[in-house]
Amino acid sequence: MNFTKFPRRNYLQGPTPIEFLPALSTALGGDVNLYIKRDDLLPGSAGGNKTRKLEFCIADALAKGADVIITCGAVQSNHARLTASWSAKEGLDCHLILEERVKGSYKKDAGGNNFLFELLGVKSIGVVEGGSDMMAKMSKKADALKSAGKTPYIIPGGASNAIGATGYAVCAEETMNQLNEMRLVIDHIVVPSGSAGTHAGMVVGMMGVNGNIPISGMNVSRPKEAQEEIVYKLALETAKRLEVKGGIPREDIVCFDQYVGPGYSLPTNAMVEAVKLFARTEAILLDPVYSGKAAAGLIDLVRKGRFPKGANVLFLHTGGSPALYAYMDTFRQE
Ligand SMILES: *Cc1c(COP(=O)(O)O)cnc(C)c1O
Repeated sequence: MNFTKFPRRNYLQGPTPIEFLPALSTALGGDVNLYIKRDDLLPGSAGGNKTRKLEFCIADALAKGADVIITCGAVQSNHARLTASWSAKEGLDCHLILEERVKGSYKKDAGGNNFLFELLGVKSIGVVEGGSDMMAKMSKKADALKSAGKTPYIIPGGASNAIGATGYAVCAEETMNQLNEMRLVIDHIVVPSGSAGTHAGMVVGMMGVNGNIPISGMNVSRPKEAQEEIVYKLALETAKRLEVKGGIPREDIVCFDQYVGPGYSLPTNAMVEAVKLFARTEAILLDPVYSGKAAAGLIDLVRKGRFPKGANVLFLHTGGSPALYAYMDTFRQE
């Protein structure tokens, strides 16, 4: 894969660590060796996966002469936080449209990522009803900014278009290089699957380096079939952009929807257990919306014996810990 063909900013500081998780592996019975890819440690305020995508999306905005970034997300969006973060760093204005996916969930004075939006100096926050056409809402904002003489650039939710997903093809290549250097055989990779750029980018990147490591996506909102179709479509677009030959086999896109619970961002017991277990065995902070539910899926698959004895499984930690501070009561209940 040739990433030099595309506008790209330099937001990474070298590869994120791959670590063995001995205490967690033992706590889960010791039959499976768990490893973690620490994308929670990426640069950008409080870290997380959107930094890799924004390297390409914000570079594209700058290449097009933009002076304002508009993006959207849920009320505790990590993507909105990191877009505000990198916009601040680049000297770009940032406007957010937040979707109240759970009725009544937007609170102006909420902590977590919401607190950081304002701290990072976003120019405006618009809150819209769950199920709104977010692209239409952002286009409307863009029109208003254009009338005011600005040059806005819209980054879609989660930065999950082929431009943003390119950042996760980079991650797949980076991971494969690390595994080769470490002489570490990984049998399976588990990733969260939300707006799909992470999952799609990883699949395309693995194909691009001929890594042949199966990837499972853990859904955070949608049913299996719907999510797999979204990941597949984005993977095809991303493979085309990166000129990854050979096609993306549909069966390589595998999602699990058993760990979503009652819906996006709504806590589950398994998520709470996963967050506590990672914290107490490995001192690694997950988040309640994405990595916590994905880890709940990973834990369940290990317990159910879905990986052979002695298998090495790599969990992609996509970050999100600021959201913990908006869910403190959930974790205080024992
Ligand atoms: C956005 C996000 C995800 C999901 O990544 P997608 O590319 O949207 O599928 C996972 N974890 C965290 C912490 C996120 O913020």
